[in-house]
Amino acid sequence: MKTNLLDFDLDGLVTWCQAQGEKKFRAVQLFRWIHHKGVSDFSQMTDLAQSLRLMLHDKAEVRALSVVSRHNSADGTIKWMFDVGQGNAIETVFIPETDRGTLCISSQAGCAVACPFCSTGAQGFSRNLTTAEILAQLWFAETTLRRELGIDERVISNVVMMGMGEPLQNYAALVPALKTMLDDHGYGMSRRRVTVSTSGVVPMIERLSQDCPVALAVSLHAPDDTLRDRLVPLNQKYPLVELLNACRDYLAYAPRDFITFEYCMLDGVNDSDAQARALIAMVRPLHGEALPCKFNLIPFNPFPASGLLRSPPERIKAFAALLSEAGIVTTVRKTRGDDIAAACGQLAGDIQDRTDVAGRRAKTIRIHA
Ligand code: SAH
Ligand code: SF4
Repeated sequence: MKTNLLDFDLDGLVTWCQAQGEKKFRAVQLFRWIHHKGVSDFSQMTDLAQSLRLMLHDKAEVRALSVVSRHNSADGTIKWMFDVGQGNAIETVFIPETDRGTLCISSQAGCAVACPFCSTGAQGFSRNLTTAEILAQLWFAETTLRRELGIDERVISNVVMMGMGEPLQNYAALVPALKTMLDDHGYGMSRRRVTVSTSGVVPMIERLSQDCPVALAVSLHAPDDTLRDRLVPLNQKYPLVELLNACRDYLAYAPRDFITFEYCMLDGVNDSDAQARALIAMVRPLHGEALPCKFNLIPFNPFPASGLLRSPPERIKAFAALLSEAGIVTTVRKTRGDDIAAACGQLAGDIQDRTDVAGRRAKTIRIHA
């Protein structure tokens, strides 16, 4: 099997090239061809020596993912489904806005955290993606969109690790992918424009602050451990007090001076005035320091069999108003691409259903209890 060069950040590519007897600056040239210019065909890499191109043909490739389907939403959102083998598929979503282009990337096929309001979680965990599979989503979307739009500049300015999977449970593959996004020889993105969203893998939040601090979004969804244990089962391992401490510590290294809390608005589950007040008390304790944060309320996107409902618009408005009045910057996420099931929590690229349906239903029903 040939080596897939999408598997390396720049340091990794330098090491690989040196093992083939090539100098470091050759690795930099090669890296730029792949990620900066979006070229996969070695024969087009005209400033590389012929001998290097021959070696690359022999031993390496830039292997993208095969596309299963593409859907274009009426609002301009594009969703691709990619085959990652053995009956597994993942999804990637491009969200165009006037001042930016955001790509929502998957980190795993399925997810082991199993939040009952998320269709990725409902499908169970299949496997971690490799660095190449994470980066291939960006490489493919960027090269495809540039070609279609007939432009030479970057189309994708922002990345959010908010597709399928829990990125911090695939840490080893995630970090080289993030480094490539940030690298000036790669995609040259600002740290503020690359966001890792996590359900709260506390030890890995700490490690990310040291290895590759980027913008952090934390999926909170509940103001107390009892409810969060059910909505985000990982909370049983890393309860709120530990999570909030990890967020606070992260801020010392973060490119932004606040943490974004995502909060999925579920009708009658986590959307009462009392729960808004409990959230405020949690991030603004009377005794103790306030945690610099913003809230992003996400209207729940229903999917078949979740058994849950979206909070009504006036409830979301009232909940947002309480947070805002307490001085916490609060936004309500616009739902994009829901006509093509590309909105948050609707990604379920798998082809097989491999988890126990009865077990999942039982879990969903407990939420209402
Ligand atoms: N695993 C990570 C990142 C992927 S999920 C995490 O949980 O943070 C990205 C965001 O979509 C998370 O905030 C998640 O809670 C939210 N989400 C999941 N299912 C949803 C749904 N059905 N409706 C609205 N948001 C959802
Ligand atoms: Fe996994 Fe995030 Fe979905 Fe929870 S919300 S199941 S952590 S992808």
